[in-house]
Amino acid sequence: MTDQDLFSREHKIIQEAEQRLQSGDFRDNVLYEPFCELLEAYKKLFRQTKRLVKMGDRMQSDLNELNSELQCHKEKLAQMSYVDGLTSIANRRRFNEYLETEWNRAVRTGLPLGLVLLDIDFFKQFNDHYGHSAGDECLVLVARALSACIKRSSDLVSRYGGEEFAVILPETDFSGAKSIAEQIQTSIRDLGIVHGYSRIAPYVTVSIGIASCVPDEKNSHMELLEVADKQLYEAKEAGRNQSRGQDGLDRNQT
Ligand code: GH3
Ligand code: MG
Ligand code: MG
Repeated sequence: MTDQDLFSREHKIIQEAEQRLQSGDFRDNVLYEPFCELLEAYKKLFRQTKRLVKMGDRMQSDLNELNSELQCHKEKLAQMSYVDGLTSIANRRRFNEYLETEWNRAVRTGLPLGLVLLDIDFFKQFNDHYGHSAGDECLVLVARALSACIKRSSDLVSRYGGEEFAVILPETDFSGAKSIAEQIQTSIRDLGIVHGYSRIAPYVTVSIGIASCVPDEKNSHMELLEVADKQLYEAKEAGRNQSRGQDGLDRNQT
């Protein structure tokens, strides 16, 4: 809206008043002088009002700009709160939320949900001998190798803890999850990260726990996590650098 549109009534009042003054027939009137003064005061007030309105418009557009910047920062922050600072993959918080979401989706669709948990073997020794920053570098390389093993956009690779990672595999049955676990094991071995202090191999290896089930309302996503965790523990107990898995949530299975 232009100034002319916004203040058309005021412009008209001033225009008519000035025409009246210029016409001459009013000049001898006793009210001529006070009318002139009043008109000047009105014009001054009008100019100030226009300045104030312009200022208000500027403030409004600055405010809009600030608002959209704030929105942008908020979105970035929300994204950052889901990302692991070291490896740039999803963090534990994202893992927890995604596992629950995918569990609920699988309950509705009746499709299986796979979960792979892995833990680097003898990582304490790696850190102790090669240093913390070499340890960090190793974690970044493992995260990258894991991400490269994942083909579907619905799969989620995350850093579950210090040197533990988790992969959520929607619509994936036990044999599918097992095959991803095998690829992971191979690709981490192929990284060939020298580990002279591992008791199982001269390079960095991982132990893996695999779980998969067809979720239903009677169970919870935490049970799938417990199964994968237990399988990971068994892979460690069995000597490391290997995987163990369980198809379904049955507690009596090994
Ligand atoms: P295991 O084969 O049984 O898994 O033994 P481990 O030595 O891998 O396991 P442990 O739990 O004893 O040690 C894990 C190590 O991981 C200890 C800790 O210093 C290291 N770690 C955890 N988070 C980080 C990290 O962000 N950076 C580095 N460099 N090291 C980390
Ligand atoms: Mg560990
Ligand atoms: Mg470990």
